[in-house]
Amino acid sequence: MSCTTHSDDYWDYDNPSEWQKHFPAAAGLCQSPIDIHAHKTIPHHYPPFVFSDKYHSNELFKLINNGHQVTATLADHTYGQSEKDLWFNGSGLTGRFYFVNFHLHWGRDDRHGSEHEIDGYQYPAEAHVVFKNQETGQLAVFAYIFTVCNQTQKGNKEWEKYCDAASQLTNQNDTIQCMFDLSQLMQANDRQFFRYTGSLTTPPCTEGVIWTIFIQKIAIKEESLNQLRQNLMRKVYRPIQPLNNRTVFRNY
Ligand SMILES: [Zn+2]
Repeated sequence: MSCTTHSDDYWDYDNPSEWQKHFPAAAGLCQSPIDIHAHKTIPHHYPPFVFSDKYHSNELFKLINNGHQVTATLADHTYGQSEKDLWFNGSGLTGRFYFVNFHLHWGRDDRHGSEHEIDGYQYPAEAHVVFKNQETGQLAVFAYIFTVCNQTQKGNKEWEKYCDAASQLTNQNDTIQCMFDLSQLMQANDRQFFRYTGSLTTPPCTEGVIWTIFIQKIAIKEESLNQLRQNLMRKVYRPIQPLNNRTVFRNY
């Protein structure tokens, strides 16, 4: 995930092992993403998430190609107004977490793309929705893992819309505005997830980020991912990092 839209040219997805030269935190012991071994996770009962009403309304977002990925923030003229109404709390986190951005990670084909792996398996894409507690500065990221639709499944329309819009942003700093319903983008059972503490998965790779990785997958059409691969970047994910002595919890 990234929490800002600034871009610099000190890093790329071709050489992620070089990031630590400019961003020392990338060599830390609590980095993300990780491979989650489900049978080694520890059961824990977290209280439910509570989402603000705004989650279920269409809001205007601005997508930008920042040279590394395509990030969606609330559009400028709604910023300040809507951002204070888009939040969640609960689920064992302290305080109220406000929406910062959402974006997608993908790979060159369906066997690559997700940042987190589950039992050694990498999925075709992974979405991040980034939140921040404005009082403490604590970051929390929701991760949604994607599968490609089979013949009996319909893809998630809201993510198709993201792919359509994002694939038009062929040059760095290109932007486009688009309406999205966050609750439709976040279409997974919110009582079933993994939880651990890690880092941003893009430089500066700052640690202390609370990760929630939802178990239920979101289906997306292969054409949508192909649009991104062909028109934008072929590879937008960081490889897995060592777990070291962290614990991954599961709520299910
Ligand atoms: Zn991300």
